[in-house]
Amino acid sequence: MFSALRDEIFRYLASLGNGQRVATKLDFEGPRIAIYTDRPEIFADRNRIARELVNLIKKRVIVRPDPSIRAPREEVERVVAEAFAGHQYTLRIDEELGEVVLTIKTRDVVVPIDEAFVSELERRLNWVFVVNREPPMTSTTVEKVRRYIYGTGPERLEVLRSIGERIFRDRVLQGNEVRITFLGGGMQVGRSCILVETKESKVLLDAGINAGASKISDAFPRFDVRPELIEELDAVVITHSHMDHHGALPLLFKYGYRGPVYMTEPTLPLMIMEHLDYLNLMGKEGELAPYSENDVRVLAQYTTTLRYGVVTNITPDIRLTFYNAGHIIGSAIAHLHIDEGFYNVVYTGDFKYEETEMLGPAVTKFPRMETLIMESTYGATPVPYTREEAVRLLAEHISRTVENGGQVLMPVPAVGRAQEVMLVLRRLFEEKRLKEVPIFADGLLIESTAIHMMFPEYMSPRLQKEMAEVGNVFLSDYFTLVRSPQQRAEVLESREPAVILATSGMMEGGPVLSYFRKLCGDERNLLLFVSYQVEGTLGRKILKGMREVQIMNEEGKYEPLTVRMQVEKIDGFSGHSSRQQLIAYMKRVNPKPRNLIFVHGEPEAISSIASVARKVVPGASIYAPKNLDSLNLTGD
Ligand SMILES: [Zn+2]
Ligand SMILES: [Zn+2]
Repeated sequence: MFSALRDEIFRYLASLGNGQRVATKLDFEGPRIAIYTDRPEIFADRNRIARELVNLIKKRVIVRPDPSIRAPREEVERVVAEAFAGHQYTLRIDEELGEVVLTIKTRDVVVPIDEAFVSELERRLNWVFVVNREPPMTSTTVEKVRRYIYGTGPERLEVLRSIGERIFRDRVLQGNEVRITFLGGGMQVGRSCILVETKESKVLLDAGINAGASKISDAFPRFDVRPELIEELDAVVITHSHMDHHGALPLLFKYGYRGPVYMTEPTLPLMIMEHLDYLNLMGKEGELAPYSENDVRVLAQYTTTLRYGVVTNITPDIRLTFYNAGHIIGSAIAHLHIDEGFYNVVYTGDFKYEETEMLGPAVTKFPRMETLIMESTYGATPVPYTREEAVRLLAEHISRTVENGGQVLMPVPAVGRAQEVMLVLRRLFEEKRLKEVPIFADGLLIESTAIHMMFPEYMSPRLQKEMAEVGNVFLSDYFTLVRSPQQRAEVLESREPAVILATSGMMEGGPVLSYFRKLCGDERNLLLFVSYQVEGTLGRKILKGMREVQIMNEEGKYEPLTVRMQVEKIDGFSGHSSRQQLIAYMKRVNPKPRNLIFVHGEPEAISSIASVARKVVPGASIYAPKNLDSLNLTGD
C-alpha cells in the first residue's frame, strides 16, 4: 500500500485511539481497504469510521474485528438461532474476514432486513454481519454463484488482495488525457463495448455479444485490433445483465484477464444465469462454445458488486459510481470521475426514462459530466401511444384472441420484460380490466424471476410499498410456472384459452419454440412481441413478415413451418427509452454535456436522434461513432 495513504489512515486512527494503537492489520479487499481492530469500541463505531475515512482519503474502508475480540463460533450460532427463531436460514462463518453471512429464506420478498437490529448483533458479537435473502423458489444459479464465490475461501481473498494492489498502486504517469474507442455497439445494437483510456489506466465499459450476428467475427467486440489489451486492462464495468452487454466477458478470462469486474448486486447472479444458459444451449445444438463453465466460475470470483451511489476507486485515477438506469433490475448508468474530477464520462448503458411497473426512471442528475454516451435503440421510432395506451392495447389483443378461442404466445427476454409483463397482467386482472385467463410462464424467466425476488431494494419505491402490503406479487395465483417437461406437455396439449410467456425473447432458442411450433399453424392464435427484436433473429424475421420459417426440432433437425397465427407487436413495454424519452432525457440531464455520443442503435436510429440532439443540446459536439472509431475527449 502506498505510504502516503497508509500514513493518512494511521494518523486518523491515532486520533481515535488517543495515541494508542487501534489497528492490528491493514489489508486490501478489492476496491476497499480493510482495517482490523482489537478494540471493541472502535469496531462498534465502524460505520461512522468508514464514512469519515471515505471523506478524508476518498477511498472505501471496512472496519473488521481482530480475531481476539470475536465471540466464539458457538455463541454466534446460539445468538443467531434465538434472534431468527421461526425463520429458515443458513449460516456461513468466515474466520478469515470475521464475517457472518446469514441467508434468510422467505416467501415474502420484503421481509425487511432491520439494519439497526443487525448492527446490534454486530456490536454484541464483534463479527461483521452480511444478511442476504434466499428466493422462495430454488434457484440453481444462486447456489452456483455462492459456490463459485465462497467455495474457495482463501483463493477469493487472494483475488481481492491482488485487485486491491492494482487499484491502490502509485500512479506512474501523470497528465490529463482521456481517449475512448468503440470496440462494439457503434451504429449497431449488440456487442456493446467501449474502451476508456487515460495515460494511467484502461477500463472497458461493457463487453457484449451480438445475438443476431451470422459470422462469429461479427459476434464479439473487436478485441482483435488491440492484442495487448487483455493484459493491459485495469477493470471492466458491466452496466446490466443482458448478453449484448456482458456476453463476451468470459472470453476475456479465457484469454487471461485476471482483473476486477464491477456490476450491481442483481447483475451478478443474473449474468451467471445467462452464461450457464448459453453454454447449455450451445451444448444442445452441438456447437462449440467460445468459452467454458470454468471461465464463468473465474469471472464470478473476480466480480465486485456495488450498490447505486457508492463511489469506488477502480484504478489509481478513475472512480466509478453507478446510478439507476430504469432498464432492468440492477441496470446502471456508469459515471467515471477521472483524475480528481478533471474529466467526467457518463455512459447510460441501456436506459428507460419513464417509471415502469417495477423500476423508477433513469437518473438524470450527476455531480459532474463533460461527455455523455447514450444508447439510441429507438432513436428513429416514436412510440405512437403512451404506456397506459400500451397496457390497454395488450388487454385488447388478449381479449380478442381468447374470445376467438385462441392462445396468446408472448416471447419474452428472461430478464426484464418477463417480469414487467407479469406485473402488467397482474394489474389488469386486479383492476378487472381484463377477464382472468390462465397465464403460463416457461423457461429461464422462472429462475430469473426467483433472482429478482432477492433484490427488492432495487425495485421502485412504489412497488416495494405495494409488496409490503400485499406480499410477493411475483408469486401471485394468476401465474402458473411451468417447471417440468410433463407440465409443458400438458400446456402444449391444452386448447384452453391462455397466455403463454416463454423465453427466449427473440425466438433464438428456449421453450418459446416448442409453443410456437404447436401454435403457429392456427390463425386464431396470436404471437405478440413486446421487446426489441435484433436484426438477424427469428423474431425479427417473423415481425418483418416472413411466414415460411425453419425451426430446429427436438432431434436437432431443421423443420419447415408456415406461420398462420396472427403476429402483433406492442412497443410501449420496452425497457429502452422511446424516441420521445431519449429527447426528454437530453433536455433534463444535468449538468449539460460538452460531448454527446450515440451508440447502441441501428444507423438510421442513431442518425435520426443525433440530428435532433443538435437542437436539444445546443453547443454540444455530437458524435455517432462507428466501431473502431476513437475519440480524444481532451482535445489535442
Ligand atoms: Zn439491455
Ligand atoms: Zn442492450
